[in-house]
Amino acid sequence: MGFALTAVSAWIADVFRFGTKPKVYEKDPKAKCPTNLKEWQKMFDMIYGPMNKACGLQKCWLHVHEELCEVSGAYRLGKRRELRNELADLFAWFMSYCNWQELPLGEIVLNLYDERCDTCGKEKCRCPMV
Ligand SMILES: [Zn+2]
Repeated sequence: MGFALTAVSAWIADVFRFGTKPKVYEKDPKAKCPTNLKEWQKMFDMIYGPMNKACGLQKCWLHVHEELCEVSGAYRLGKRRELRNELADLFAWFMSYCNWQELPLGEIVLNLYDERCDTCGKEKCRCPMV
């Protein structure tokens, strides 16, 4: 679990490495860019909350899966720009799902991973590779 999370985190970091500030923040330098999961979740709730409530929880969850498939497709086909956008879409729908379920993702992740592997408990994961 720890290894998988680390690998996925490294992959996401790599995909976004050459990214820059989102355009909305370039247009308005005073705009406050979300700096933690709680703020991102709140931002997506402000943008999509009412629409997602109307959409329904099941459709919201299906959108998460749909976006994950689109990420896989872009990765498989080596379409790097699409991959970046699909990861952003996946993140947005995942945040929407958490909002729908009233799950404070930042707190949940911190409680589970608090600067250590959730499986072996080490700051640097020592779990065997699977
Ligand atoms: Zn570990």
